[in-house]
Amino acid sequence: MDGCEVSPKREDLCGSGTAVDGTPAPERTQSWRWLARRVLWPTLVIGFSAAYAVQIAAGGHPIRLGLLGAVVITCLILLERLLPHRSDWGTRGDAQLPNDLAHTLLGAGIGAGCIESLVIAAAAYGLLPLPGDSVPRGLWPTHWPLALQVAGALILADGLYYWKHRLLHRIPRLWKIHAIHHSADRLHTLKATRSHFVEAILRALLIVAPLVALGVPREVLLWYSASIVIIVPLSHANLDVCLPSWTHWWLQTPQWHRLHHAADPALANTNFASLCPLWDVIFGTFAHPDEAEANRVGLPDEPLPTHLIGQLWYPFSSITRPRDSDGGPVGREPRRNSTASFES
Ligand SMILES: [Zn+2]
Ligand SMILES: [Zn+2]
Repeated sequence: MDGCEVSPKREDLCGSGTAVDGTPAPERTQSWRWLARRVLWPTLVIGFSAAYAVQIAAGGHPIRLGLLGAVVITCLILLERLLPHRSDWGTRGDAQLPNDLAHTLLGAGIGAGCIESLVIAAAAYGLLPLPGDSVPRGLWPTHWPLALQVAGALILADGLYYWKHRLLHRIPRLWKIHAIHHSADRLHTLKATRSHFVEAILRALLIVAPLVALGVPREVLLWYSASIVIIVPLSHANLDVCLPSWTHWWLQTPQWHRLHHAADPALANTNFASLCPLWDVIFGTFAHPDEAEANRVGLPDEPLPTHLIGQLWYPFSSITRPRDSDGGPVGREPRRNSTASFES
């Protein structure tokens, strides 16, 4: 069923050629916008995936994969200029942009170092299957077809991510690490990596380490990494795309992830997965974009330091526990009845 045409709300957003912030598109641009909004997202997902498939099949050289990631980000930033979801959510005039870039570089550097250390340790202990290895090194079914191994690894890794993410929201001390990601008052591509560097360490320890310990081959790990680089920046991009309703059940989409960034704590405590909403459906935290819209994002009730050093220190500062309208601390999961209307 096509959500672009069925739901009254989606029809307003997708069918009128009017931006969410109310800016009408010039009439001569409406026909290309109509088409672009429908084909851009699937084209990018398929195109980026094909580019990664070529690189991974060619051996997955780290520098070439890194450059491909930079190409993905650059493409999205350029496309945001052509087809913005909101004109006031762009990188222009974003005073936090230097901090976004600093968090990105810190997280990428420290995260890559952690993962490299894990892989070296796994290889030293004989856990990592080598190319052409006929003997399984761990519990991972290396004899399965690659596509099945990739699918299994993505589902498993996303399940680990889901619970890591929920704990970051539930435990006040951990929330202070994650709050930096939610503090953005607008969403665009570079907000995807606006996270405290401790999150990169947690990702390596709680998601990559279990996969490595199971003996997941390097090629499958590269596909997990590629999936994150494709889907996560796309889901933060300030792109005006229109997707069929069913898409939001299967992949993290911009509309689906915007609900997680909503200023409303009840909405922000939904949609925790990073790739596939499966785990949110299973554990009752799924919210569909047809049911709600995140017009306001960020943490208006929990102002974070605006300077980089203050943001880096924030997780180690005292817990003040500001209250939301339900009386619960902002950032923690609300009581059960607060999310009831969004549960599947
Ligand atoms: Zn979150
Ligand atoms: Zn996010």
